[in-house]
Amino acid sequence: MAEQVVIIGGGPAGWTAAIYAARANLKPVVVEGIQPGGQLTTTTSVENFPGFPESLDGTQLMLQMRTQAERFGTRIQSGEVSAVDFKRQPFQLKLDDGKELEAQAVIIATGASAQYMGLASEQKLLGRGVSGCATCDGALYRGKLVAVVGGGDTAMEDALFLTRFAAQVTVIHRRDEFRASRIMAERVKQHPKIKIMWNTVVDEVNDVAREEVTGLRLKNVKTGALTELPVAGVFIAIGHQPNTKAFVGQVNMDDKGYILAEHTRTNVPGVFAAGDVQDHVYRQAVTAAGSGCMAAIEVERYLKH
Ligand code: NDP
Repeated sequence: MAEQVVIIGGGPAGWTAAIYAARANLKPVVVEGIQPGGQLTTTTSVENFPGFPESLDGTQLMLQMRTQAERFGTRIQSGEVSAVDFKRQPFQLKLDDGKELEAQAVIIATGASAQYMGLASEQKLLGRGVSGCATCDGALYRGKLVAVVGGGDTAMEDALFLTRFAAQVTVIHRRDEFRASRIMAERVKQHPKIKIMWNTVVDEVNDVAREEVTGLRLKNVKTGALTELPVAGVFIAIGHQPNTKAFVGQVNMDDKGYILAEHTRTNVPGVFAAGDVQDHVYRQAVTAAGSGCMAAIEVERYLKH
């Protein structure tokens, strides 16, 4: 029998949608995804989620939301949705383990993932010195030299976090000005363990046939000059891309793959989107949670009619 609502994704948007849908007695099923808790689990300290003045761990916040959703009757399905058919009602969802679900309404809350530079050497050394998650891998670089690529808040946060372990952190940014908020940028600029290389991009990740990162070949974008920077680890913090592969051709998206939604409603009646998968502007846990709440309320209205 078809579920009333299936929520795809177990980040702040998904769990908030589940809390609201469960309390509305819609008996939601959440398909948790391959990275339960989503991007927030890669953040150590969440300082800006209202109600937690002392800050808390991102994973902890996600577990608390999950527990809250379960308390009201949310059912949790592990795994990932690999394909959907929104052209049929009830909607059809296929999971990576072959399992199928049917739903009268769907909330897509699959979030976004870290972006990479696109160098072959970067991909080859992923997990062997190249990382997209400083909070996951930072502790592996105790006393070592590391680099962070990017100039946004993630890069600042990563660089500051890495100073806890690394001997020195070099921030590599392609322009001469950070995109990050001023407070974060200032903390980075003033940190004695952080060095900044402006107008610079990574030209190659070096491994000297050792199959692990030994350094970077850097290119000054103004002069074209190439330099070498010895590092044991490089953390890529250059933004994100939405996790929408499974929905291509099923709902309208923009040219970057973000789902187009108005008040969480997609172009398909009964299919809603919440959180970073439809928001490349705010991308905060609290805005994701807010849109998850909106999506659940929209589902309730949709099912009533
Ligand atoms: P952003 O899109 O804000 O920044 C990405 C950075 O990477 C930019 O500086 C960009 O350069 C650079 N970049 C992009 N592509 C490349 C490339 N191919 N090669 C080299 N550099 C590249 O992403 P973030 O992940 O930093 O932040 C996303 C959102 O999340 C933001 O709104 C941010 O404020 C928020 N955030 C908030 C935090 C907090 O409040 N604690 C923590 C982390 C994120 P350029 O500047 O030239 O475009």
